[in-house]
Amino acid sequence: MQGEPAVVVCRLGHRPGRDDRMTTHVGLTARALGADRVFLPTDATGSADTVRDITDRFGGPFEVEVGSPISELREWDGTIAHLTMYGEPVQRVAGEVRETYAGGDPLLVAVGAEKVPFEVYERADWNVAVTNQPHSEVAGLAVFLDRLFEGRELDRERADADRVVVPQESGKRVEQRDGNAGANPGGTNAEDAGTPDGG
Ligand code: SAM
Repeated sequence: MQGEPAVVVCRLGHRPGRDDRMTTHVGLTARALGADRVFLPTDATGSADTVRDITDRFGGPFEVEVGSPISELREWDGTIAHLTMYGEPVQRVAGEVRETYAGGDPLLVAVGAEKVPFEVYERADWNVAVTNQPHSEVAGLAVFLDRLFEGRELDRERADADRVVVPQESGKRVEQRDGNAGANPGGTNAEDAGTPDGG
């Protein structure tokens, strides 16, 4: 987050077609929950475009980079947390990750898609499990970032947003940056907010 060391989420692997939605959601979750940048594989350009589009409309700062994730990981000058069901419990290692991060080291958070090369387990400073049960990179990433930032990410302000969602007890309200507001209690999410999957 701004004023803190960089946190970059690195998506290892992407199966075009099968992983499109999941890779997009890794990027959206990274952005929403306080990371500064997401690094996506070259064959995930559709996901990259979607995350950039959401950042343009709902605000930043947040960067999307496309390239070779394994090269990014090898060349990373900072610490690495690799999320895997085989790692150490997040509740046991989060304190150490936070201390190191507070010391000023940028952090790369690696999440997989298919089988992750063993090199990643060895290169990581922490192999972190969000429970030792198999689930999803999006769920693992969300819990990890929240433990890292201890909830500060939930109050993060966005800069240069075209539209802002105004919290409602009931119904939906989206305010345009020019001050126009729209209340669409019966409308679809996509009409209100223009998110890629209507969410
Ligand atoms: N066997 C894989 C593994 O190493 O966790 C599961 C593959 S899963 C479909 C894709 C990614 O989800 C994994 O590479 C990992 O980053 C993340 N993931 C799944 N379960 C997780 C858990 N319990 N804790 C942390 N990350 C998890």
